[in-house]
Amino acid sequence: MPSLIRLDSLIHEVQPLVGTLRALLSESSAPDPVLIKHCPECEFETYCRKRVTEKDDLSLLDSLSIKDRTTLNTKGIFTVTQFAYTFRPRRRPKRLASRKEKYHHALKALAIRDRKIHIVGKPELAIKGTPVYLDVEGMPDRDFYYLIGIRIPAEPSYLQYSFWADDIGDEETIWRSLLRVLERIDNPVVIHYGAYETTFLKRLARRYPDSAADSSYVSTLITRGINLLGITYSQIYFPTYFQPPQRSRPVPWVPVVAPCRVGASVPCLETTMGGSEGYLHQASIDHLQSRGL
Ligand code: SF4
Repeated sequence: MPSLIRLDSLIHEVQPLVGTLRALLSESSAPDPVLIKHCPECEFETYCRKRVTEKDDLSLLDSLSIKDRTTLNTKGIFTVTQFAYTFRPRRRPKRLASRKEKYHHALKALAIRDRKIHIVGKPELAIKGTPVYLDVEGMPDRDFYYLIGIRIPAEPSYLQYSFWADDIGDEETIWRSLLRVLERIDNPVVIHYGAYETTFLKRLARRYPDSAADSSYVSTLITRGINLLGITYSQIYFPTYFQPPQRSRPVPWVPVVAPCRVGASVPCLETTMGGSEGYLHQASIDHLQSRGL
């Protein structure tokens, strides 16, 4: 059905932007880049990030909104180092003790400037049951989970399981293997980092409803689970520009040129990761290499 678009209102918005673009194009040198959310998808990211890092520009802090940055600029603060000097530790009033700690952008800047991890208060983990540390890896573009890793305390050390799916057909098998292990654990409390693992539990419970555990069992696992990001986000400040979990998860990620062999059991990670260079978890690389991929 045809729809009516009123160009006159859009023209008023576009005209000032055209003026700005004309002014930029008439300059003899390129404008200074300011990092935005779109940058990770842009082909110039490496170049822009290098320039912004040299300038120590505030846009390096991806947790800082454009509005916050503009406010700081009006106060004469343009670099991460300058911003770090504005942090003042304050004692929390007792009446606010039960409230969630707010995020301190200036403390993040301080952590980067001093290359130190700063901790606010005493982060506590109230685990009522057996902790089960869960980490899942998948390929979002194929809606496929290929690795489930869990670690469980078992005196005097830990028990560790890695369930691998070589292709989509194996996904249900590794899901059931996970549930079988969990069902043997007394009162399991799933501990994970970010929302990825929660989404995984919800999705696979829906996708494989005939598995041994019913959906209420998985719902209980999700409800009782602990997301470490909730604790680390506002209380632990790592000296990294990126706010976890996007790009700086505190796990060993390494850039790789992933191998792609026609007919390999793990198909074309090179393509799946969107180019010749991707980011893979070290465990994934070890696994691929152990299989001669
Ligand atoms: S990486 Fe791309 S989007 Fe980001 S500042 Fe540079 S040109 Fe702009």
